[in-house]
Amino acid sequence: MKLGIVGLPNVGKSTLFNSLTKAGAESANYPFCTIDPNVGIVAVPDERLGMLAKLYDSVKITPAVIEFVDIAGLVKGASKGEGLGNQFLANIREVDAIVHVVRCFEDPNVIHVDGSVDPMRDIETINLELIFSDLEILERRIAKTSKGARMDKALAKELELLNKLKGYLEEGKMAKGFETDDEEEQALLAGYQLLTYKPVIYAANVAEDDLADDGNGNPFVQQVRNYAAQEHSEVFVICAQIEQEIAELDEEEKKMFLEDLGLKESGLEKLIKASYSLLGLISYLTAGEPETRAWTITKGMKAPQAAGKIHSDFERGFIRAEVVNYQDLLDCGSTAAAKEKGLVRLEGKEYVVKDGDVILFRFNV
Ligand code: GDP
Repeated sequence: MKLGIVGLPNVGKSTLFNSLTKAGAESANYPFCTIDPNVGIVAVPDERLGMLAKLYDSVKITPAVIEFVDIAGLVKGASKGEGLGNQFLANIREVDAIVHVVRCFEDPNVIHVDGSVDPMRDIETINLELIFSDLEILERRIAKTSKGARMDKALAKELELLNKLKGYLEEGKMAKGFETDDEEEQALLAGYQLLTYKPVIYAANVAEDDLADDGNGNPFVQQVRNYAAQEHSEVFVICAQIEQEIAELDEEEKKMFLEDLGLKESGLEKLIKASYSLLGLISYLTAGEPETRAWTITKGMKAPQAAGKIHSDFERGFIRAEVVNYQDLLDCGSTAAAKEKGLVRLEGKEYVVKDGDVILFRFNV
């Protein structure tokens, strides 16, 4: 699962990206790998793992991870090939969701590309580039579909959808706001890989002073919130600069630092967790002496497919799953005690795995 960080130059993308990868690399001794300087693998904070590992004396903890990509260089005119425009847009096409960083902090030392801090104008600039790029895709598709539409009912129907979508985007709207009850249309829409169809989290980058009241006193943040509410997107208030400082600290120091700021968890932790759920992801857990680990699945996945995340043999030879809820296990103190209380269930092929299930799979080899 991949998230792309976008935004105008100088809004704090790299600062955020660096703190994400730094924090991710250190928080959970995950074998951190840098595939590419612009791609970082980040651990999803999950306090359940530490608790389970204690219960099992686990040698190793392996958290769930998501990938963040720093997509720098999106500027006005990118869709017309300005800068390295089209390349950046192609990078965005590959991600599952977008983190859109918006500058809400004033700082005379940090130049704004358009001369002033104005998050609404910035959001519009970026979103328009995404819309232009999508329009190009739609137009190509329309040209192709038109050829067959006279002879083919399905194509004619698609052409109608494409033209409706085009009109919608031409009004400056994002494809994800396009509503249709028709399941065929929904499937087509999801298949076009439109940039403006991807889920978005707006990261409002504020000054340190705005953190304590979660940006409520900053009118720019309010504007972003109002805008995001219209398109059903989430907003997170962060201070990228502070996050970068926090990422340098060890666990103890970090706790004290956050307490001083009146915060329970860092903005990054909140952002990572939110990204995870935005993508419809949940974790089930496996625990034992060698390793306690979180496994990423999509909501609604059944036991054999979930088992397949560990190994394809687990899916192929699936017999059943022994499942206990994380909290029940913790309350009982051991699997044996949970079994005595009848809290360990035997589940079959149709079982839909839930977030926080601790699972032992039985399978044939
Ligand atoms: P990018 O071009 O969007 O990747 O922006 P950078 O992360 O490189 O940040 C541009 C400049 O803004 C750098 O000098 C950062 O130190 C500064 N900056 C980033 N975040 C903040 C912040 O929250 N507050 C302040 N005052 N400066 C910041």
